[in-house]
Amino acid sequence: MEELTGAQLIAEALKAQNVEYMFGIVGVPVIEVAMAAQAVGIKYVGMRNEQAACYAASAVGYLTGHPAVCLVVSGPGLIHALGGMANANMNCWPVVVIGGSSDQNQETTGAFQEFPQVETCRLYSKFSARPGSLVMIPAVVEKAVRSSMYGRPGACYIDIPGNMVNAKVDQKTVRFPSCCPPPPVSLASNLEISKAVTVIKQAQRPLLIVGKGAAYGRAENEIKELVELSGLPFLPTPMGKGVLPDDHPNCVAAARSRALLQADVIVLLGARLNWILHFGFPPRFSPDVKLIQVDICAEELSNNVRATAALLGDVRAVVSQLVDVLRSDTWTYPTDTVWWTNLREKIASNAQISKALSLQNSLPMNYYTAFHHIAELLPKDCVIVSEGANTMDIGRTMLLNYFPRRRLDAGTFGTMGVGPGFAIAAAVLEKAQHTGRRVVCVEGDSAFGLSGMEVETMCRYKLPVIIIVINNNGIYSGVDKETWREMEKMGDMTIIKGTGHQSVKDRTQV
Ligand code: ADP
Ligand code: MG
Repeated sequence: MEELTGAQLIAEALKAQNVEYMFGIVGVPVIEVAMAAQAVGIKYVGMRNEQAACYAASAVGYLTGHPAVCLVVSGPGLIHALGGMANANMNCWPVVVIGGSSDQNQETTGAFQEFPQVETCRLYSKFSARPGSLVMIPAVVEKAVRSSMYGRPGACYIDIPGNMVNAKVDQKTVRFPSCCPPPPVSLASNLEISKAVTVIKQAQRPLLIVGKGAAYGRAENEIKELVELSGLPFLPTPMGKGVLPDDHPNCVAAARSRALLQADVIVLLGARLNWILHFGFPPRFSPDVKLIQVDICAEELSNNVRATAALLGDVRAVVSQLVDVLRSDTWTYPTDTVWWTNLREKIASNAQISKALSLQNSLPMNYYTAFHHIAELLPKDCVIVSEGANTMDIGRTMLLNYFPRRRLDAGTFGTMGVGPGFAIAAAVLEKAQHTGRRVVCVEGDSAFGLSGMEVETMCRYKLPVIIIVINNNGIYSGVDKETWREMEKMGDMTIIKGTGHQSVKDRTQV
């Protein structure tokens, strides 16, 4: 009789589901889980904080389309990971969090780090469960991995009580589900496709919006075909950048506000009408805008703005459907319309403004000047991690992306502190794949401070990450000279000075 421990069952089950990476912090009761995972060939990265570990695991999910695991200890360990789970779930990125918990026979007694973990995780995930017994572990792991990827991707949680980790069971009594197939591909209904094509053809001022759902859904070739066949202008969302190159002639990112405001038909490809896109509401959008929406999640359709055509399905497959119809109709949007002239004018004038700003050589250096020089040094194909307030906003326009899934930022949840974890994930993948692609983190000083200790993780694993901190010495926008003087007058500056802060005069912006 061959016996397996709970830890081995978890490891074998993850391996069977093709999970390759695990990020976490070990301690009682999950030490053996990490060891068993390593024994079956899963690459384990020990981080400094569970939150960053969860950011890293979820970034692997986004970059590869397959979830990684975040492994945490009970109570506080799991609670630290909640920020990462929420961020992944909001971003629609797959991740599986495995949390150790106190022994079942001590439940309700005030056990070490006892906490209602399964209930807690329910709000932060699309699936949260504890296997009913050892033999159920592989099935629950399969379900978590599958649920994280199928439908709208997101976070899943598995709870493992300490007593299950080292308990043993006869291998023959365990059912090991095989690796779950990639998510089934769903197509939009033909009726909605013809509606969409009719509306696109009648549009005076059409606009495609490319979101991170399109990046996640690997729709780059299909969207390229759509844009090049139809001649339509497109606008990427922050993480939709790079699905098509930012320097593509049809990219109207530099006329973003005008494009959103004046478009009469918008085709939304894997992007939500949430705060990032001003909800699709006036005054940022035309009140009469017609919306053609492509999304894998039925509940997302018609959110905030009623969709004229609701294309429920996988963005890559649905864009192919659109391309097929447009090609057979041999239709293209003319290049000499008033709309194109209008957008091009705005692009040219905005380009002049940011060029003038980036050539300024004032001290302290302004963001545009800093980004101008950073952009000059960046290789075309690198992963750019970007977070901060102005650092991220201005970085979005100044740092171009030429390839899909090369930009990682604060995302839908606007989470600061994701940068180092994301960079670790990207660097671990690049190292494993030997691409030689650089990972460059451009961080606001405040955002960097939230997870700065992960620099130690980068060093320990010799991960090739470049971090640039745009330092205005402050949370949000820092303090101006006047405020600083006021603070000095108030007398509490002695403490700050005593901790080594430079005076306002000495500080440079970068
Ligand atoms: P952005 O921040 O770029 O606007 P969002 O995260 O708001 O992007 O929106 C992404 C959308 O893409 C989500 O509504 C999600 O359901 C959807 N999505 C994710 N994967 C796919 C896919 N394969 N096909 C279609 N839609 C997808
Ligand atoms: Mg700052």
